[in-house]
Parts: sequence; structure tokens; C-alpha cells
Amino acid sequence: MFKWNRNNDADNKIQNMEKQSISVARRKQAQSLRNDSKYQDTIRQRKEEWKKRHSEFDKATAKTEINNIKSQIADMQKQINASLEKEKPLEKKVYIDGTGTDEDMRILRQSATERKKMQEQVEVLNGDMLDKQEVYKNEAQNRLIKAGTIEEIKLSKKMTPDTVDVLEDTLTKLKDKYGIMPKGVVYNPSKVPDATVTYNWVDDKIYISNRFNDINNYADIVNKSEDSLIEYREKAVINKAEAEIELNTQRMAVRENLMDTLTHEYGHFIHRHANADYVQKSSVFGAKDLGGKLINGDWKYDINSYYSANAKIETAKISKYATESPYEAFAEGFLAKEKGQEIPESIEKVIKEAKVKAGVKNIANGQKNGILGSTKDERILDVHPIGKINKEIYKCITDDILTDEVVITNNQIQHIMDRHPNDYERFSSYFGEIVKNPDYTIEANKPNTALLLKEIKENDEIFKTVLRLVASKDNPNYKNSIITFMKIDE
Ligand SMILES: [Zn+2]
Repeated sequence: MFKWNRNNDADNKIQNMEKQSISVARRKQAQSLRNDSKYQDTIRQRKEEWKKRHSEFDKATAKTEINNIKSQIADMQKQINASLEKEKPLEKKVYIDGTGTDEDMRILRQSATERKKMQEQVEVLNGDMLDKQEVYKNEAQNRLIKAGTIEEIKLSKKMTPDTVDVLEDTLTKLKDKYGIMPKGVVYNPSKVPDATVTYNWVDDKIYISNRFNDINNYADIVNKSEDSLIEYREKAVINKAEAEIELNTQRMAVRENLMDTLTHEYGHFIHRHANADYVQKSSVFGAKDLGGKLINGDWKYDINSYYSANAKIETAKISKYATESPYEAFAEGFLAKEKGQEIPESIEKVIKEAKVKAGVKNIANGQKNGILGSTKDERILDVHPIGKINKEIYKCITDDILTDEVVITNNQIQHIMDRHPNDYERFSSYFGEIVKNPDYTIEANKPNTALLLKEIKENDEIFKTVLRLVASKDNPNYKNSIITFMKIDE
């Protein structure tokens, strides 16, 4: 025991000496490499390369890869089905009729073995495809969050890249056009019973189900639904109002594709936001003007009252779906207008007013003037908090600073993204630190505007930022705002 311990100690000593001499050599080598400017340049280039490759997601390649796997799976599935067809009569011969030969038995076994192998491969490919689709949809989610399009977005990894693309595009367009968005778009089939997508009036989120995963498959659902119109007409009981509704009805719903269903739900969102007190069903915006009657605490059409029945007849001009309730009349009318279609004037009026009440962007006066956006409402809707400044640091620019809060608007984010590609995505996390603790603060050539320089040590990068400070002459609702931002050396 003792001896063994002593030997062990000696071994340790030798090992330690070896370690030390190695580390001395390494240190020397490292020192010489640090002084080798050529080597340092190479390393820097390599770092840049790596960063470039890892910061830009190659959408097109990812999409091609996913579609390749998909067609591989389809091919194998065909082969598997062909094998099953081939095995059926052989199975009958061998196991049921008892007329199979040894050769039949051999072929049957071989076919079954190969088929099982293929099925296993299909499973592997499927897993691989879902992994890739997950990355694809995660990238889209990140883009939407970073662009400030929506606060929360959670899609399914089963969603096809085409569907992800169109959804991203649709949400971006709605945000650009109206400026306001629901709190989230969330994949949660349990919250979307028997439907494709639904807006939750209470938590202000749009929920999507598995039917929302494939934009191409959705056409079947639309067609089946429109086919059922014939059945609906045949079943309709003919009293006067119902007959008129039936005659008016030319289609089940306004939507023609998957994204139309999303826009319909966005219509419910606008409707809900038209009234501050959205929880009280009795105060739902425009419900009465849409011809609704408050029955058992909710707005419905009452075919037995003249006013409500007439309103329902009007909604039938939009779609069968619109006749369901004042809520659906609004959402279907909203979608129809988005698609450039005519709708009954009375309904159009309610939708127009609701848009204004909900605080959407001023569509008619869409042009932006000045750095702080054109209207107060728009600014409030479009701003993202960045952090706070120490007013002392900015005294050299002005000592008349109203607030220490700093924001960035969607317009400026878009400006940065347009003029300095990738800078916003890669460096926006530094904004807070830059405005709080700039290395240099210089007066810019515009009033109350500071040009900030900041070196971020860990990456040896220098950033230039222009910050507009809000002074007492400005609108007191405004906050200090980042006007532009770029990485120097570009
Ligand atoms: Zn609806």
C-alpha cells in the first residue's frame, strides 16, 4: 500500500514536469503566433467567414433539402404499397388456401423483409424531414419576432416550408398595412376544435391547428365545403326570410385558400379591438348596427324580428358563413374587403369605423414624414423599448431632455435593415448598452441629435448610432429614439 502510493507520487511528479514543459512550449508558440500579423489576419478572416456562414440561414437550400426528402419518402411509399399488393395473393396462397409452393413462401418472406426495411428508412427520413422543417419554421419565427411583426409565434414542425413562407408574408403584410397585431399566432390544435384557425377573443391570440400545416392540402377542404352548399340549399326550410337568405347565398365562405382563413381571424381581432371593453359582450362594437340581437348574453341574428332578419339577408350576400352571427358577418366582410370585393354598405360602414376605433394605421395618409413617424397613434403602436440613458452623459448635446427612455420604431428598424443588411439582426442586442454607455457622444448636424460611437470589446467591433433626444419643444408622448445604426468598417 505504502509503496504503491510512493510510486504513484513519483509518477505524478514526472507527469507534472512533462505537463509544465508542454505548457511552456505552448505558451511560447502562442506568443509567437500572436506577434505574427499574417497569422492573425488569417484567423480574423476565418472568424468573419464563420460568422457569415452561421448568421445567414440559407432558406432556399433548406427548402430544396426538405422537398427532396419529401419526394424520396413518396417514392418509397409507392414501392411499399406495390410490395403489399404483391404480397396479398401470395399470403392467401401460402397461409389460407395452403396451395403455396416453397418458392412462393421464399418470395413472400423476401418481399416482407425488404418492405420492412423500407418502412424503417421512411421513418428515418420522416424524422430527418421534421428536424429540417423545425429549423425552417424556427428561422421564420425569429425573423417575425425580430422585425416586431408579432410578440409570440409558435408554429408546428409539421408545417411545410411553402406554408411557413406564405404565413410569414401574410402576417408581415397585415402588420405593415394596419400596424396592430394580435398578441400571438400559436399552434395549438386543442384550442381549434373542428377548424383550421381561430381567433381567441379573450386572450387576443390566433390559434392554428394541423389543418394549417399544408397550404396545398387546404384546397380539398375548401372544395368539400363549397360542395356542401347544394346540400344546404336543399335542406333549407322555406319561410320568407330563409328563402331570401338561401337565394342570396352564392358561396359557403369568402376564403379561397389557407391564408384567407388567417385574414378572416385577423378580422375578428380588429373587431374585438374596436371596443376597449371587449370582455363585456353587451358592448361588442357595431353588433347592433350589424343587425344583431343580444340573446342569452351574446349577439345573434334573430330571424323572427324584422330588423335582424333583414340584416341577416344582407350578410348572405357575403357568404353562408357570414349569416352565422354578427361576429362572422364582420370577419367575412373584412376578408371580402381585403380581397377587393364588394360587400353590403351597412356592413362595410361598421368595418370601416371599427378599423379606426381599433387604432389601425392611417391607411389613406400612409406616407411617413419626419423621423418620429407621422401620427401619434402610429408611433405608440410601432415602438420597441431599448433601454434608458443617463441624461448627464448627453448634457453636451442638450440639457433639455424630457425622458430617459429610449425606443426604436418599426420604420427605423426597416431603415437599418434596408441600408445596412444584417446589422440589425446581428447587433440589435447591443442597442441598450450603446445608448447607456457610449464611448463618444458627438453633436450631430441635426438639433437634439447625438452621434454615438461605441466599441464592443468582446468582438472588437465599433458601432455608430444616431440618437434623437426628446426635448421640451417636442411632443411629450415621444421618447428618445434610435434613428440609425451601423457597424463601422463596412
Ligand atoms: Zn370566424
